[in-house]
Amino acid sequence: MTGKHYVEDFRVPPGSHTRLSDFDPDFKGRHSKEKALAKIDALREKMDDLQQKLFAERKRSLLVCLQALDAGGKDGVVKHVIGSMNPDGCRVANFKEPTQEELAHDFLWRIEAQMPKRGEIAIFNRSHYEDVLVVRVHNLVPKAVWSQRYGQINDFERRHAANGTVILKFFLHISKDEQLKRFEQRLDDPAKRWKISESDYTEREYWDDYERAYDDVLAKCNAEQAPWFVIPANHKWFRDVAISEIIVATLESMNIQVPKPTVDLEEIRRKYHSALDEDKHAKAGHRRRGHAAHR
Ligand code: ATP
Ligand code: MG
Repeated sequence: MTGKHYVEDFRVPPGSHTRLSDFDPDFKGRHSKEKALAKIDALREKMDDLQQKLFAERKRSLLVCLQALDAGGKDGVVKHVIGSMNPDGCRVANFKEPTQEELAHDFLWRIEAQMPKRGEIAIFNRSHYEDVLVVRVHNLVPKAVWSQRYGQINDFERRHAANGTVILKFFLHISKDEQLKRFEQRLDDPAKRWKISESDYTEREYWDDYERAYDDVLAKCNAEQAPWFVIPANHKWFRDVAISEIIVATLESMNIQVPKPTVDLEEIRRKYHSALDEDKHAKAGHRRRGHAAHR
């Protein structure tokens, strides 16, 4: 398998009844870790370049949604993959438990407010999908309410896609064992201990319920214009290379056009730079004569 195919390999086929259990969280292709890390560096450069073009074009935008169970690696993706881009045109939005104000509105209200502007890339660390995941698993609203949200999400994403937002949705797929291993590493690492919460452990009891809720998301909200990718994420470097590859391939396929300059470049050069050049030459001549006089 080569990187070029990650878009097809990890894309959940639209209209299918793919389940999370159909994907192997441990998958790492034929990559060695060293080669993958070198590739990530090259992809980071490409991403940075493409983002600058998108920013200059200012016609379309990119939304990257990251979903995972706890310790799935969302923060790692934000740091390693997306950290390469210019923060001026790139924004991360974290969606935690809704505030009272947010709960007093429709569930998409806080999402709408964070959608990317033209030219911008927005990364959602958790997203509107929490409203059919944690909300469903813990019965935070009645089934009659959450079950209507799949259609509402599809309408929302369709509207934004039609308005020029390209949407990519990634589920970072780790195994239950790998999750426990990462929690243990957090216990051992003074820099990461602050992340531990008891709910991380109690949520493990709902693992199967979350899987079922994700299966429904993949089946019901996976339109052509807002695809889901299930990324094998037990190996952090493989997760990063796969996501970088898919983001770069997507930006490349957008055929971004940097706008033509609005001024006559030759005239600008003649008007401002030739005078500066003459000035520079004159000063250089002056210095040369000065040096000669001192000899
Ligand atoms: P980490 O992986 O570092 O723990 P996190 O994204 O889990 O990061 P936390 O502050 O631990 O961040 O948890 C945020 C919590 O907010 C999650 O448990 C998530 O399910 C919950 N949450 C997000 N959106 C909603 C929502 N719409 N309704 C209820 N809970 C939500
Ligand atoms: Mg958490």
